[in-house]
Amino acid sequence: MQNGKCKVREGPQRESFETEAAFGYSDTAHDRRAAPAPRHSIFHFAFCILHFAFAAIPVALLSGCQAPAPAQQFVAQAQRLHDGALASTVVVDTDLNDYFQEIGDRVAAAAKTAAPSKANEAFLASVRCHLVISDTTNAFTTGGTHVYIYNGLFQACQSEEELAAAVAHAYAHLMSLDLEKTQMKPEPGRALPAVAWQFVINRSTLAQEQEADRLAMQLYAQGGWEPGKFAQLFERLEALTGGNVAPDRIALPLRAAALRSAAADAPKPARRTFPVADPKTFISLRNRAAQMHEPTGESVPHVFLRAFPNCILSGDTLEQRAAQERLRPPPPPIQKLEPS
Ligand SMILES: [Zn+2]
Repeated sequence: MQNGKCKVREGPQRESFETEAAFGYSDTAHDRRAAPAPRHSIFHFAFCILHFAFAAIPVALLSGCQAPAPAQQFVAQAQRLHDGALASTVVVDTDLNDYFQEIGDRVAAAAKTAAPSKANEAFLASVRCHLVISDTTNAFTTGGTHVYIYNGLFQACQSEEELAAAVAHAYAHLMSLDLEKTQMKPEPGRALPAVAWQFVINRSTLAQEQEADRLAMQLYAQGGWEPGKFAQLFERLEALTGGNVAPDRIALPLRAAALRSAAADAPKPARRTFPVADPKTFISLRNRAAQMHEPTGESVPHVFLRAFPNCILSGDTLEQRAAQERLRPPPPPIQKLEPS
């Protein structure tokens, strides 16, 4: 197994050439092409293929054909960014932590049924779903075991259904290994601001965003939330933010319309599940988080959070673009050429 993908064991081709030599066949390419293979060697080869094929079946069944998890260097990079910066932005409140983790865990549990080819259960069980104290409206994953839901987004949500839509979208990016499909190359020694900058310049594509929405709808519906309510998040945010559409994103009303039609084909779980929190508890938790504010002045971890590309709105806000400029590496010094 490589990269989490099941690999069919290859046949013993090298051994067959050695077998040819043992039977006195010439090893030159010319001779091999000129001499017809005797019938018994063809049967022998076919027997070997069948033998290995049958031997591989129980191995695959025993080990289970696991869906891929993010590559180790991406998980390590995300952990370094969390431990060195982003952990300090996570809300310190047991009830809120438990609530966000429970929503994340429900999305992760739904993945096994909704998208088995992308659901690596052991990896998904290790993912932490955090509420971070940032006024930006966003949800983001750094490609390892951390999903960040921003308080600015939580405060904009009117129901758990809207919040769960954003959580499912972030998990969908993670399950599709979207970060690994960009040009990003994690380096263990890279300074953290430079790591954060890598996320700025390696944005997900529009196709990845649309696929994340499609997969998120499957996870969301399988998780027990009402599919028809997924689009409400984007309808509400359009009313709050309006306008700004990046060239690699679509306007929120179009996104909401696509989600409304996807809701019709969403899975229908056999058992109706209630939201994690009832509406009254949701409002109470949201009000508690409303008392928590970003620190005044420049906090580096908060600049990182703000700079990450927006995954929920149709473009980055002015504050986000300012944070991205703060992270932009200085240009290399201009080398003066001495006149010869
Ligand atoms: Zn996204």
